[in-house]
Amino acid sequence: MAGALLETEVLCIGSSPLLLLEALQQARSGRRVLVVDAAEQVGGAWRDMRIFGLRRVEIAPHIVMYNRTTYDYFARELGVKMQRMLPPPQYFWNSPLGKIWIPYILSPFVAYIAVPIHFICNRQYRANFQLIREEYFGRLSDASRLMLKWIFAGQQPFIEYPTGGTLELLDRISDRLAEAGVKLRMKTRVAAIETQPGKNVWVRCEDGLEIAAAKVFMTRHQNVPRISVAGRPLEVQYDSNTYTSLHLLVKTTNPSRAAFVLAKRDPWIQLYSDLTSYMADVPQGRRVITLRLPPSDRPQDRTAAEAVMKHLVEYRYLSTDVKLEDFHFSTYQQGGLKQECIQTLEAALGDVVTIFRSTNMSNSIGDRISFWKNTRRKLVCHACAGALTLQDYVADVPQL
Ligand SMILES: Cc1cc2nc3c(=O)[nH]c(=O)nc-3n(C[C@H](O)[C@H](O)[C@H](O)COP(=O)(O)OP(=O)(O)OC[C@H]3O[C@@H](n4cnc5c(N)ncnc54)[C@H](O)[C@@H]3O)c2cc1C
Repeated sequence: MAGALLETEVLCIGSSPLLLLEALQQARSGRRVLVVDAAEQVGGAWRDMRIFGLRRVEIAPHIVMYNRTTYDYFARELGVKMQRMLPPPQYFWNSPLGKIWIPYILSPFVAYIAVPIHFICNRQYRANFQLIREEYFGRLSDASRLMLKWIFAGQQPFIEYPTGGTLELLDRISDRLAEAGVKLRMKTRVAAIETQPGKNVWVRCEDGLEIAAAKVFMTRHQNVPRISVAGRPLEVQYDSNTYTSLHLLVKTTNPSRAAFVLAKRDPWIQLYSDLTSYMADVPQGRRVITLRLPPSDRPQDRTAAEAVMKHLVEYRYLSTDVKLEDFHFSTYQQGGLKQECIQTLEAALGDVVTIFRSTNMSNSIGDRISFWKNTRRKLVCHACAGALTLQDYVADVPQL
C-alpha cells in the first residue's frame, strides 16, 4: 500500500472505545469515516490477550467509572448489559495511621481532600496551575453531582461493568461500526499531520500511506512525531509511561475482597481486579486476578509472582485458601502529549483537529455524549428559527 492516497471526511487516529464511539457517531451522521491504529487489535488500553488457555483476557485491571450517561448509552445504543460490579470496588490507602479501605464510589471525595494537600506539599504540582484547576474542579463537580443525586433523587450510585467484560463492549462497538460502514485500518502508524488553512488535513503514515481528511479526531495518547501548520512544525512534547500488568490464575473457593481496588501506597501493587465473573471460559474454582504493578527492578519470574500473591493474602485482597496455578507478566506503553503543549497545539490546529484529553474512559465518553446532545439541541433551535435548512440539520447532527 506504500505511497497510496486515501480520502475520507473523518479520520480517527487510535481505536480506544472513546475514538471508536466518535467514529460511530460521525458515520451515523452520514460522514465517511476511517479509523487507523498502529496496533494489531482494536481497543487501545482496553484490548485483550490470550493467556492461561483462555481466549480473551483484558490486558490490565479495568473499571468503568460511575457515569450514568455513559452506562445508559452502552445499554441503550450498543445493547450491552451493564451489571453492578461485585463485590463493590474499593479504595485502599496504606496510611501512616493504618490500612484504610473505603468504597471506591466515594473516591472523588478523597481526591477533593487530596488535591489541595498536593497543592500545598508539592512544588511541581503548584507550578502547573492549569492541571490543578482542571483536576480539582473536575473532581469537585463529579463529587457534588454524585452527592446531590444521591440525596435529592435517591439515586444510589453503583459502579457497573459490562456483562462479558469490556471485550463485550468492544465487540458491540465493532458490530455497530461495521453496520455504519466505518473503515478500520490496523497496523497503520501515523507519522505526520499537516494542516493548511482552507484545505483538508494531510496525514502521512509510516508505511507510506497518505490520507486527506476534512476532520481528524485523536486523543493526547496518540504519539505523532510531526505536527505542522502550513509547513511550520509545531513543538510536540510527549512523555511515555510503561505499565506492567501481572495476571495470576489462582485456585480458590472464595471471591476476592473487591472486584477492583485502587491501592495508594501499597508497597506491591497499584491496581487490583478480579473480573472472573465477567469472563465466560474460566474453569470452576479458578479466578483470574489482574494487577498493575508499580515500576520496579524486581525480576518478573515465579518467585516474584508468588511474593505478590503472598502479599495479596496478607493484605486480605484474597482469602488464605488461595493457590497459584499460573502467572503472566506483560507491559503496555502509553505515550501522552504533555499537558503544557496541548493548548498550544489546539490553538494552532483550529477546528479541523480535535484532541481529546481522555483521562478516564467513562467520563470522557459521558462528556462526548453530552456534547452531541447539546449540539443537536442547539441545531434544532437554529433550525426552528429558520437559520438552517432541514438538510443542514440532518448533515450536522450526530444521531443519538
Ligand atoms: C493499562 C491502562 C489501563 C487503563 N485502565 C483504565 C480503566 O480501567 N478505566 C479508565 O477509565 N481508564 C483507564 N485507563 C486510562 C486510559 O488512558 C483511557 O481509558 C483510554 O484507554 C484512553 O484512550 P486513548 O485513545 O487516549 O489511549 P489508548 O487507549 O492508550 O489508545 C491509544 C491507541 O493509539 C494508538 N496509537 C498511538 N500512537 C499512534 C500513531 N502515531 N498512529 C496510530 N495509532 C497510534 C495505539 O496503538 C493505541 O491503540 C487505562 C490506561 C492504561 C494505559
